[in-house]
Amino acid sequence: VNVEVIPETGSTSADLLARASSLSAPLLLIAEHQTAGRGRAGRSWLSSAGNSLTFSLAWKFEAGPQALSGLPLALGVAVAETLGRLGQQVRLKWPNDVLKDRDKLAGILVETTAAERGIWAVIGIGLNLVMPDEMERDIGRSVAAVPWLARMDRDALMAALLDGLAGVLREFEHTGFAAFAARWNLLHAYQGEVVRILDNGAVLHEGVAAGVDDAGRLLLDGAEGRIAIAAGDVSLRVK
Ligand code: ATP
Repeated sequence: VNVEVIPETGSTSADLLARASSLSAPLLLIAEHQTAGRGRAGRSWLSSAGNSLTFSLAWKFEAGPQALSGLPLALGVAVAETLGRLGQQVRLKWPNDVLKDRDKLAGILVETTAAERGIWAVIGIGLNLVMPDEMERDIGRSVAAVPWLARMDRDALMAALLDGLAGVLREFEHTGFAAFAARWNLLHAYQGEVVRILDNGAVLHEGVAAGVDDAGRLLLDGAEGRIAIAAGDVSLRVK
């Protein structure tokens, strides 16, 4: 994996998507400061210089896009297990968030672009190290940070994350999400709790969260019995 560190950019994922056709190997792009970070469905990811890790990793898959549907969840397992190894216990919120004490600590966004043979996945990750009050106000909800990890050598932290991500990516290439479902469920933040699935603010489903299936769909036990929900653009809230 090649690594580039740049002082500032709008979005490391936008940069890698624009460069994907000219890449010949996986590339990790780290920005000291990201000014236009993005989340799902046009939402934004905020960060401030020196207080966050913001990076994207371009990784090529030979498979078609449908094979990548569980990838954001498998990458959540990678981030959570890596932080766990470093001593910070975190949990996963379906489909793509890493939580500490129920607040969002990191976001993972997977975007894809066609490659000559196969597909480039651009994996964007934002991780809060320190969360200044004014940033939390801008985000408009309480969020988590790991100030003790901010004191760790930044290169060592990035190296641990890259190691965890690359290991999961290689495994995912062979097994798809099926091999990660049990690991994801062990880290599930809301297992057995009543949650709501929202689409643009409207409640689509309500039920008891029962983890994910082999395709990364959320299993929900509700009035209609058990249903499986694909990620799409829906959001999850605890009731
Ligand atoms: P939700 O978290 O609302 O269910 P989501 O999981 O789809 O939605 P993402 O698209 O992954 O959210 O991330 C974007 C959202 O994350 C923003 O709308 C904002 O609420 C929140 N956010 C933005 N920056 C940060 C940050 N630095 N730390 C924690 N949360 C943030």
